[in-house]
Amino acid sequence: MIVLEWKEPFITISEAAAGLRMEAYVIGGYVRDLFLRRPSKDVDIVTVGSGIALAEAVARKMGRGAKLTVFRNFGTAQVKTREWELEFVGARRESYARNSRKPIVEDGTLEDDQNRRDFTINAMALCLDRERYGQLIDPFDGIRDIEYQTIATPLDPDVTFSDDPLRMMRAVRFAAQLGFFIEPETFDAIERNKERIRIISQERIAGELHKIILSPRPSIGFELLDLSGLLSLIFPELSALKGVETKEGIGHKDNFAHTLMVLDRLARHSDNLWLRWSALLHDIAKPATKRWDNRLGWTFHNHNFIGERMVPGIFRRMKLPVNEKMKYVQKMVNLHMRPIVLSDDEVTDSAIRRLLFDAGDDIDDLMLLCEADITSKNPDKVKRFLHNFQLVRSKLAEIEEKDRIRNFQPPISGEEIMSTFGLPPSQPVGTLKEAIKNAILDGIIPNEYEAARELMHQKAKQMGLLPNHPDGQPN
Ligand code: ATP
Repeated sequence: MIVLEWKEPFITISEAAAGLRMEAYVIGGYVRDLFLRRPSKDVDIVTVGSGIALAEAVARKMGRGAKLTVFRNFGTAQVKTREWELEFVGARRESYARNSRKPIVEDGTLEDDQNRRDFTINAMALCLDRERYGQLIDPFDGIRDIEYQTIATPLDPDVTFSDDPLRMMRAVRFAAQLGFFIEPETFDAIERNKERIRIISQERIAGELHKIILSPRPSIGFELLDLSGLLSLIFPELSALKGVETKEGIGHKDNFAHTLMVLDRLARHSDNLWLRWSALLHDIAKPATKRWDNRLGWTFHNHNFIGERMVPGIFRRMKLPVNEKMKYVQKMVNLHMRPIVLSDDEVTDSAIRRLLFDAGDDIDDLMLLCEADITSKNPDKVKRFLHNFQLVRSKLAEIEEKDRIRNFQPPISGEEIMSTFGLPPSQPVGTLKEAIKNAILDGIIPNEYEAARELMHQKAKQMGLLPNHPDGQPN
């Protein structure tokens, strides 16, 4: 049995509540996580009476180390210490209008407050009154659901989900985060109420998607989104990856199942949210590029480039950040096949340099994604890929040390080319720059100033350009 220890910050909250003659309880995620042995520092405190008054009293008692923030409009307050984030709210009763997830809120009892919670495991409260300290108030048997690893709503699930459809995404998210099952009646209600998701803002949907993507096995969440019918409403591009078509006895793989496998495999090695998004989107253009070729069978030509171009539309619609994070995802989607193509062919130095040049500092992430993408069921094929992949990795390390390509800046700038030959910004400047870059990447010259300068002069001569100064020095 788990007990709430008589320790800070609970001692202070208990004493402050006693001073105000108020009941106070720890409620929600902190209690759930206590039973799940997932230590947390975010604590929700509910009081029968004013949450703000209790927070003020707690902050006074804690003194200098505590920062109080009051949200009068919401009737809530936060006390932050170095270690804890304490949220205070008065117990409330909620009623909903059909077209909004903003409830009408009134003061209520602890029971009212527990009734408005989303799941039984999130509705448990621990009493902070001195005489009843640590007593569990669990009207919906959340403890049993924790034991049986079940997500279920406290009241009729149709009402719970229709009132606030975000809860459908939260059910799926908790299932993925905790590895719990959604109880059948609760799940059926998600199917029935799925269309209500349309009243939820994209930002909130994205927030839950991030949490699903960051969970230990994200596939659990995406399978549930798909099974419930939510996926095609919130993420039609991902839903379109589903299915297998067969022609002349030849089928292609189910790209939805494959994508989820890649995401799960990557999740074992990286917590990087945007790399995980890249895994989710790496084959997103397969439906758009799918063709049948009599000689080759199913092809998905250029799905990486088309996928890269689909990313901004998806990010904008989903209100994901349209910034360098998106550019990173685009780059990963574009390059996701490059290391594997290398390991298929001969792994030449030149190809490795070009890969290092294109991937820059993200090369290690790209290698993780690419390795996760090897999901073939043929053990010989997997063995060969992984062996070649090792070869790519060691070559990358070798060439990087030798050539410093990762953050490649050509040793001769456009300015220098212009001043050497008295050129305005023009095409010949670009041609010379490109020639130097390619010569370095192809290993024709080393990545050094003198060699690059010599090549510039040779190439310029072929182009009929003369230096400003007879000894070839810039003016
Ligand atoms: P996490 O911190 O991982 O997001 P959590 O459940 O610990 O999850 P919050 O999302 O901050 O934390 O929610 C705190 C508590 O508030 C929940 O445990 C639940 O009791 C209640 N809650 C939050 N959102 C809703 C909602 N949409 N409907 C009903 N109750 C909710």
